[in-house]
Amino acid sequence: MKNICVYCGSSPGRLEAYSDTARALAQALVERDLGLVYGGASVGIMGLVADSVLQLGGRVVGVIPEALAQKELAHKSLTELHVTTSMHARKTLMVELSDGFIALPGGIGTLEEIFEIWTWAQLGFHAKPCGLLNVAGYYDGLIAFLDHAVAEQFVKPLHRSILSVEQEPAALLDGFARYQAPSAHKWLDKDQT
Ligand code: AMP
Repeated sequence: MKNICVYCGSSPGRLEAYSDTARALAQALVERDLGLVYGGASVGIMGLVADSVLQLGGRVVGVIPEALAQKELAHKSLTELHVTTSMHARKTLMVELSDGFIALPGGIGTLEEIFEIWTWAQLGFHAKPCGLLNVAGYYDGLIAFLDHAVAEQFVKPLHRSILSVEQEPAALLDGFARYQAPSAHKWLDKDQT
């Protein structure tokens, strides 16, 4: 693995724990010589994780659509900044550049991005790991809902298991290093569990 994509809030969130874990994730990435790919903004947890990686001497690639870059939200000191014509082009490039995907706490944008990448993993469109950093129980309600979706037989246990959940960045990245994707053809096997 060379680069990890981090989806996270454009807001800082209420608790200091969210910022602390963003810094811990930055440290875990740099220790493993993994570059950060992220949404390219200077605000919220997004800006914090990028600043932390840069301060530790790591690589940060930002990918931002021109509509957001023009509002001066783009981070000015990244290793690389790609400005795309649309949100869809941005997400496609982030996926191409990355070998794994992490959601720190965030809002609607963060949820949309991690669910899209998880959906593509379920369909076998890529074989890269994805996971949630469940800081201070932020994702507890979502995880309970996902268990409900499995119990109600809308999500297969195999597909639920693709999305890792950890509280510590190091544990999530160590799991990524061992990750083996389910083979794509299993999607068509109705007997899988
Ligand atoms: P949210 O979780 O709703 O705060 O949105 C954060 C996610 O959506 C990030 O991972 C970004 O890719 C994208 N995003 C939302 N707002 C912005 C912004 N102001 N600048 C850049 N990216 C943003």
